[in-house]
Amino acid sequence: MTSKTSAVIERSLQNLLEDAAYLPVLQDEIRAKAFKSLASILSTPNRMHKSFLRVPLDNGEVTRIPAFRTQHNDTLGPYKGGIRFHESVNEDEVINLAALMTLKNALHEVPFGGGKGGVAINPRNYSARELYLICKKYVQYFSDILGPDKDIPAPDVGTGEREMDWMMAEYKSINPGKPYRGSFTGKSVINGGSLGRREATGKGVYFTFRYLLHDFLQGQHGFAGSSNSFAQTVMAHAGRPLKLAVQGFGNVGSIVALEAYQCTKLQNKIVAVSDRNSTLYNAEGLDIPALIGYAQTHHGDLPNTPEGLAEANVKAEIRGREDILYLDVEVLVLAALEDQIRADNVERIKASFIVEGANAPVTGDADQILLDKGCIVIPDILANAGGVIVSYFEWLQGRETQFYSEAQVFELLHDKMKSTMNAIYPGYFGNSRSLRQICYTHAVMKLSTNLYIQGKLY
Ligand code: NAD
Repeated sequence: MTSKTSAVIERSLQNLLEDAAYLPVLQDEIRAKAFKSLASILSTPNRMHKSFLRVPLDNGEVTRIPAFRTQHNDTLGPYKGGIRFHESVNEDEVINLAALMTLKNALHEVPFGGGKGGVAINPRNYSARELYLICKKYVQYFSDILGPDKDIPAPDVGTGEREMDWMMAEYKSINPGKPYRGSFTGKSVINGGSLGRREATGKGVYFTFRYLLHDFLQGQHGFAGSSNSFAQTVMAHAGRPLKLAVQGFGNVGSIVALEAYQCTKLQNKIVAVSDRNSTLYNAEGLDIPALIGYAQTHHGDLPNTPEGLAEANVKAEIRGREDILYLDVEVLVLAALEDQIRADNVERIKASFIVEGANAPVTGDADQILLDKGCIVIPDILANAGGVIVSYFEWLQGRETQFYSEAQVFELLHDKMKSTMNAIYPGYFGNSRSLRQICYTHAVMKLSTNLYIQGKLY
């Protein structure tokens, strides 16, 4: 793994190595060897599975489709992570995303390891029947390695409740008489899914931002007088009107935009949203519920013609897809795909806060430049864990066959994320490290301690 994830893991291990209070039982040469072992374990996946699914198409041809499942690390529990249907899916991307899942679960104390899957297709080019067959084949080809106590997939880009329902049904057929409810999460509620799962990631993403700018400040955490530049940035924006732009208007982005729109604790104005086609901009603020209503009846897309805007009854300028990134806003939420802010475009970013709803939307070199500019980046593993947290609740509910109300799910979600943020934010304001580095170090520490205790470093 040569990704930015492995670079940040190695930096986290270096921080822990230099911290004499961390695992003091490991000294001198033994300590150096143990940390070398940790770097090698955590920067590579346990297993990488690849298949070419044989799928009969509607036109009578049979095609082969590349499909992947990476099992990165299961120190803390069964592998867990989404399955993505997107034409850009490839081995490196799946490995990197699986590593992020390991870290995300460790950071939020979710008792799962990290995995990720993908199928290299544009789902829009396939009929519902073909997608159904692709889902069935995926489960058939990977059936030996999947299961409620082995590896539990969930939706990701290009997949949703429908695909998880189909996959769970196939898992159940292949494993008669065995527990199956916890084999996939993100299922529809009528099929054993959890209330609130669909909104969980977007709600969690917005909550990390609101908590930083509002609840945490009100909690008398005593950083108001801190000379730390991050604390100064937070203080300079707290209680002031904020302009927000949200890239991506799918499962995550649309809910972040709605949460921000409805929030009464901050003075938000959502001036721009975007999707794979275009950016919509209105300096006076966009009507987010109307845009969600439009997207629901137009295959998830935003209006991108004057006629579409009229149909949605929304006033906005239609701009280029990339324009969303460079607007004069305080807050930019990235909720589309990875590598959106890179060394070649980072200088054009004006936002003071970037919230990573997507996985890995900022490259490693761009991240350092943002840090040097004093921009606060709420990183993916902290911000977008709502989905996996509620997936964990879904897995638990499936085991107990006792289901929580939506209000209970959101309360549990907020409590879990709050306890992570209360462990992370105070250290951030007493330190010059990025929030990403602090989150990764926290997650790597949890994993390293468990690997040591489990005897995996001998
Ligand atoms: P989705 O498929 O529902 O939506 C993706 C959105 O991004 C769509 O609006 C699409 O039009 C837009 N988009 C695609 N290509 C784009 C481009 N080049 N520029 C701008 N917009 C583009 O996916 P999602 O579930 O909302 O996931 C979005 C991101 O969040 C992904 O990185 C995913 O890994 C991450 N994530 C999702 C979940 C979850 O529960 N769904 C959980 C954690 C992380």
